[in-house]
Amino acid sequence: MSDKEHGNNEHWQHKLTPEQFSICRMKGTEPPFTGKYADCKKDGIYHCICCGAPLFDSATKYDSGSGWPSFWDVLSEDSVTQHVDTSHAMRRVEVTCKSCDAHLGHVFEDGPQPTGLRYCINSASLDLKERS
Ligand SMILES: [Zn+2]
Repeated sequence: MSDKEHGNNEHWQHKLTPEQFSICRMKGTEPPFTGKYADCKKDGIYHCICCGAPLFDSATKYDSGSGWPSFWDVLSEDSVTQHVDTSHAMRRVEVTCKSCDAHLGHVFEDGPQPTGLRYCINSASLDLKERS
């Protein structure tokens, strides 16, 4: 681990809860049906828990039955970065926050139209700001 990464992790360890830290900074996954936004139907914008960048709109959230918050689109192409992830003997596409590199979840190609995409995101990576 480089000094830079070490410094970053220390910074985030102070700012985040242990669960948020293990998911966002160590690429963990929360157990399905446990996250606070899994069944959330409130209207608003989901922001990055780490840096506050806006990531997803509740208008694109849908019930995928997976147990994780699922979206069929991102708020903006500038919100997230996608990386091919071949860990756990699977080929998946990881989604991270473009602003701070927080691990958010994965995107799969079995979502509803019009995109056909399913952004499967950890609740712990998100902070919903309700629309007033
Ligand atoms: Zn972020």
